[in-house]
Amino acid sequence: MFNITAIPALQDNYIWIIHNGQHAAVVDPGEAGPVLRFLNAHGLQLNSILCTHRHADHIGGIAGLREVYNVPVYGRRHPDNPHITHDLHEGDSLELDPFGIVFAILEIPGHLNDHIAYLAPEILFCGDVLFGGGCGRNFEGSLAQLHHSLQRLAQLPDHTRVYCAHEYTAANLRFALACEPDNPEVQQRAAATQQLRAANLPTLPSTVALENATNPFLRCTQPEIIRTLQRRGLTDTTELGVFTALREWKNRF
Ligand SMILES: [Zn+2]
Repeated sequence: MFNITAIPALQDNYIWIIHNGQHAAVVDPGEAGPVLRFLNAHGLQLNSILCTHRHADHIGGIAGLREVYNVPVYGRRHPDNPHITHDLHEGDSLELDPFGIVFAILEIPGHLNDHIAYLAPEILFCGDVLFGGGCGRNFEGSLAQLHHSLQRLAQLPDHTRVYCAHEYTAANLRFALACEPDNPEVQQRAAATQQLRAANLPTLPSTVALENATNPFLRCTQPEIIRTLQRRGLTDTTELGVFTALREWKNRF
């Protein structure tokens, strides 16, 4: 058995740590200090580091961790992320022995070209592609790629827990409410999110079912969202047209 805990880091990052009382693995350590403090406080030994993508706020702590723990670093090899010891691609699997977890690797471009996700039964580490109530920005590749990647994640089993890398849920749900003011599930989630944040608790992980019910970027065929966008001048009501309009609106929201 194991637990997965959020370690807050930098401004609004979460470094997810898988731990079983003895061993630990971290996902996207943007800072070393908070991870080292968690390991020490809980008497844990770091076994491995997993990276979803090469942005500095996801890899900035790797060098510092490896000064203490000479562990494998999984992810996609790239000049911007020289720390990777095991290069991962679509269809690869990664077994974390201490926890009995086997991850399937998914390539999910659209935030960065070489962004990957780690999928195990009921567990998804999706980095900066899918957020609570929202999605990542399109820094590389096309919006069509980002849309396609999000659709892949949306089709995972309902109960899959979604471990996003940032605490953006409250702001994302304000946008979701602007898109679908009459959606009761968005209203409920926004209220629950406010309570969690007021208590300084993470709003994550969410689930694939909750994202499908409340995240506008997974709901591009919903009539209420299309009507909202049409009032704002949308003419291209294809799924990609709606997705593009949502992403552009959110960039300015
Ligand atoms: Zn990123």
